[in-house]
Amino acid sequence: MTSTPSSAPMPALLATGVTAGHGGRPVLQGLHLSVGAGEIYALLGANGAGKTTTLSLFLGFVQPVQGRVQVLGIDPVAQPSAARRQLAYVPENVALYGQLSARENLAYLLDLAGQPAAPARIDQALADAGLQADAHARPVAGFSKGMRQKVAIALALARQVPALLLDEPASGLDPQSSAEFSRLLLRLRAQGVAVLMVTHDLLGAADVADRIGFIEHGRLREEVAATGCERFDVRQLHRRHAAQEARP
Ligand code: ATP
Repeated sequence: MTSTPSSAPMPALLATGVTAGHGGRPVLQGLHLSVGAGEIYALLGANGAGKTTTLSLFLGFVQPVQGRVQVLGIDPVAQPSAARRQLAYVPENVALYGQLSARENLAYLLDLAGQPAAPARIDQALADAGLQADAHARPVAGFSKGMRQKVAIALALARQVPALLLDEPASGLDPQSSAEFSRLLLRLRAQGVAVLMVTHDLLGAADVADRIGFIEHGRLREEVAATGCERFDVRQLHRRHAAQEARP
């Protein structure tokens, strides 16, 4: 285990030596993972490797039987509400109230989160998330997947959370929406938000991530940091990643 020098800033998201699973069946097996403020971390791995379970760990939905988890220094098992206040979670399929407009969804969800916001702030968050103004008052039942995701991101923006958890954010997005989404993540990073993103999209991850981690059978098998203007050797990573996914 690598120790953090006392002068180094505390990671926003930290899992050290975590073993955890579902119904007594271990999924994560000694997982070490940290994401700093203003960092985008992409977590890749085969189906069932433990990516979503890792997100659930930070949300306090899965409890470690060994090891330690911290969200901005808060233990999500001991203080789940306090930890979740620091987080926004955007699942693969964003659940919104279909009859309500984007604006009304945001107002309602912010109320539920105990962080009510004025209409101007709600509109600003929707605009910052890239949702066009003429969609703010429309019922979300007619929204595309990309538009729904923007509403979920707007919720995160309005809550001004320091950490964002994303599950398969790019799946189902067309190239333009995907590029827009990447630009939004870069803006959040510039504001100091820690982003942990679970994805199967190596190319998309390589575009925005500062580090890419590959999880295999609940362990972080490899972690690569972006360097130079090429950032990542995507072909080489793809070869290794594909070989990893093929391993039983
Ligand atoms: P995928 O790429 O398919 O989304 P993943 O890496 O996100 O996979 P997880 O969803 O973390 O994988 O699942 C890891 C293992 O835990 C799988 O074997 C899965 O069946 C199991 N699992 C996940 N959630 C639950 C649950 N709520 N109850 C029981 N087992 C679960």
